[in-house]
Amino acid sequence: MSRAKEALYKMLNLLVMIPFVNLKAQREAYRDELNAAEQDVLNSGCYIGGACNSLLEKELAGYCGARHAVTCASGTDAISIALMAFELRPGDEVIVPDFTFIAPAECVFLQGGIPKFADIDPETLQISVDSVKKHITSHTKGIIAVNLFGECAPYRQLKEIAKEHGLWLLEDSAQAFGATQGGQRSCTFGDISITSFYPTKPLGCYGDGGALFTESDSLAERIRLIANHGSRERYRHESCGVNSRLDALQAAVLRVKLRHLDEELVARQRNASIYNDFFARYEGFRPQRISEGNTSTYAQYTLLAQRRPEFLKALQAADIPYCIHYPRPLHEQPCFASVSSDVSNKFVESVCSEVVSIPVCAFTNVESIVERLQKVL
Ligand SMILES: *Cc1c(COP(=O)(O)O)cnc(C)c1O
Repeated sequence: MSRAKEALYKMLNLLVMIPFVNLKAQREAYRDELNAAEQDVLNSGCYIGGACNSLLEKELAGYCGARHAVTCASGTDAISIALMAFELRPGDEVIVPDFTFIAPAECVFLQGGIPKFADIDPETLQISVDSVKKHITSHTKGIIAVNLFGECAPYRQLKEIAKEHGLWLLEDSAQAFGATQGGQRSCTFGDISITSFYPTKPLGCYGDGGALFTESDSLAERIRLIANHGSRERYRHESCGVNSRLDALQAAVLRVKLRHLDEELVARQRNASIYNDFFARYEGFRPQRISEGNTSTYAQYTLLAQRRPEFLKALQAADIPYCIHYPRPLHEQPCFASVSSDVSNKFVESVCSEVVSIPVCAFTNVESIVERLQKVL
């Protein structure tokens, strides 16, 4: 960026409220490509599934190095479809992280399964392998691991545990499409892996969308069947399924954004390292630790602030938007009261009272945020 442009950006930033995720700037950057792709779909007469969707599935699978990718209507649907493909039955227990978005526990619960809420590692904030081990009983059928805030969960150990106990492993990579572990891309670590294309996720469309990934031909076939009313052939339904399809318009948007994902991830990682350097100069801040061998998509830049109420006041004073991901453990949610009475997770409780997420997307001017912060910290 030129000096003059940089100065202009800074001025604009002072005048305009910083968005938490700058989707407008992203659209502006890819405007011509997006317009052309969107017009093609609108003029094609094919609005659900179709050629654009098939191409996207190939490109998603190719990007991750997965054998199969199947698109669907949302990340939450993708989890539900995966659970149906694993043939979850009422009373089956599934181990889920206690500290994440509600979807994994909710989908298990809605299908009659019993979510078992595992504690987290206090530094990486990822599901704790020791806690997972403690929750295994004769009723346990599977583990849902979430790649929290864009970083992969500890898959080497989780895969070992799953194998040893004959459990399936579902990778929830809603926040981490494009992340890596040991050089391998996310969405390839579970027996089934899922992602979400909700607009503010690292790879987002302009509405709801999601996808499932698997190495298994038979699981891929079941997934396609379930997502399309249990039907392979028109008006012949082998099993009951759901209607969960991706719009062609969303597929077109995603194909454009996928081409830019790698450069966006580099920008996100650069932004995160600016924050890391900045917060290292102050007492009482601890960014989420990214484990050796992992690269994060930084769906969120999340840090623990020992004196969070003061830090939130400073953010407000500097007009810097923030989110609390997540304010309370899932086991404390009223909807899980019937299955969580005996849960107590030491680390989740304290992390919930310290976490804060601040803007980090590729179109965020993190230098200007840091400048503002410097004045109020
Ligand atoms: C966003 C999210 C989901 C759900 O995705 P939707 O597309 O909004 O249904 C599931 N799991 C996690 C961890 C998420 O962050």
